[in-house]
Amino acid sequence: MGDILGSLREIVGERWVSDRPEELWYYSRDPGVLEPHRPDYVVAPDSVEQVQKIVQLAVREKVPVVPMGNAMALTGLVIPLKGGIVVDMKRMNRILEVNERARYAVVEGGTSQGALKAYLQDHYPHLRHSLPDAPAATTIAANVALHGQGRLTQQYGFNSEMVCGLEVVLPTGEVCRIGSPSLGPYWFSRSHTLPDLSGLFLGWLGTTGIITKVGIRLYPNKKLRDLEIFVTDIPELVPEAIYRLTHLELLEDITAWFQPKPLMFKDNYHVTIYFTGDTEEELEFKRKMVWGCLQEFIDSKDGGFMGVDPLKPQLLEMPQRSVAEFADVPRGGGFEYSGPITLVEHFPKYAEKVVELARKYDLLYSGMARVISGGHAMMFAISFAFNRADRDMMERVKKAMDEATEFALQMGSIPWKPNFMEQRMILEKMDPVTRELIHRIRRLMDPHGIMNPGNWEVQ
Ligand SMILES: Cc1cc2nc3c(=O)[nH]c(=O)nc-3n(C[C@H](O)[C@H](O)[C@H](O)COP(=O)(O)OP(=O)(O)OC[C@H]3O[C@@H](n4cnc5c(N)ncnc54)[C@H](O)[C@@H]3O)c2cc1C
Repeated sequence: MGDILGSLREIVGERWVSDRPEELWYYSRDPGVLEPHRPDYVVAPDSVEQVQKIVQLAVREKVPVVPMGNAMALTGLVIPLKGGIVVDMKRMNRILEVNERARYAVVEGGTSQGALKAYLQDHYPHLRHSLPDAPAATTIAANVALHGQGRLTQQYGFNSEMVCGLEVVLPTGEVCRIGSPSLGPYWFSRSHTLPDLSGLFLGWLGTTGIITKVGIRLYPNKKLRDLEIFVTDIPELVPEAIYRLTHLELLEDITAWFQPKPLMFKDNYHVTIYFTGDTEEELEFKRKMVWGCLQEFIDSKDGGFMGVDPLKPQLLEMPQRSVAEFADVPRGGGFEYSGPITLVEHFPKYAEKVVELARKYDLLYSGMARVISGGHAMMFAISFAFNRADRDMMERVKKAMDEATEFALQMGSIPWKPNFMEQRMILEKMDPVTRELIHRIRRLMDPHGIMNPGNWEVQ
């Protein structure tokens, strides 16, 4: 092995590379429950050329490379399972272009959600992107690399479906552009009439290349937002309510949730319905439509709308901080969630399963489902909070998560942002021809097996 540290210093400068134990400690872990594993080096590039040189070095020296955004995926996707070089992308955080009329932005591969949100607020307040509820420092490229979902997913699909062009450093060290930017200066399309090569990178969890630029669609940012919460104690009513609400084709976001604490929420299922408008009239019209479409359940006394005024400031926050508060993160708590993508009609079965697992493993739970693309599917988050100082509790969360994934696979769902063990479970269950195709694509794109190894690996 050559002098990798020295070569990395030459590429990025002394300040931006480290093999010091205290820094490697930090880059060995994420906030979830998986065991840490140490990288050998961590490096923070500032340009696509530097990323290219790092990957070329890794190819020469045959060491793994793990692209990292903010390490908040919670399922160990940036834990360097086989050591090597963690490439921290956060310095590449420039917003390169906003095309106001075509409604897209082009950002570098380490740009955070918060940075784009703030930039749009300052310069294009009538535009927005689909912000996840993840911490503001999490990155846009990582979010599309794991098929993230956000505030506009109910209307427009997964955040990865909003990608309108990519620039990627391939595992060979070459740079390629995907979609309209491969033909000219515009980033309006990932494919349209071209073969859609974005599928070689979206959902691959950094195993097929390092995204250095992302084109991401923007959408109208209406002046006003509001919400209503429909409550019922009948879980079977939730899919029916969602079916009626999505029929309206009017709503920004729909989430269904249930949790045992505080006690006022216990044993009830809540559907939070977000809507937007440019005028009070538009907002009131939408509110009326929402109430109207669920009126039958109010008349039958199976459900009703709850008073939301005290909750509004928290629920209208973007991103919402209540998830982190559930885990008491400020005092050293943590939480882990498995989020199978499944049919909305499966909501009652998942709801039952969460409570069953929480009882079995003596854990505090929270269940939440976000509707995707007008009701074609939902992401059902099975979340458990834990105390980081309690190893036994973390073990119980791990077991509960494994069972949740087994259940999701039995139900025919797709586990979202699976950890490396869950990926194995998925690959085992998968149609063998599809599995072999994944294997061949990985081998073809990454002949030296250096990109985020241990993930999406067919044994
Ligand atoms: C409180 C909380 C709420 C959350 N809510 C949401 C939510 O509403 N919606 C949602 O989607 N997620 C949510 N998450 C999960 C997660 O934080 C997000 O998906 C987030 O986008 C991950 O970004 P990151 O920069 O931390 O990714 P990381 O954990 O750093 O990386 C995730 C994956 O992307 C790969 N990757 C990173 N950068 C690149 C790159 N430039 N090129 C190629 N691959 C790369 C990594 O190798 C890894 O496989 C939440 C998490 C928390 C803690």
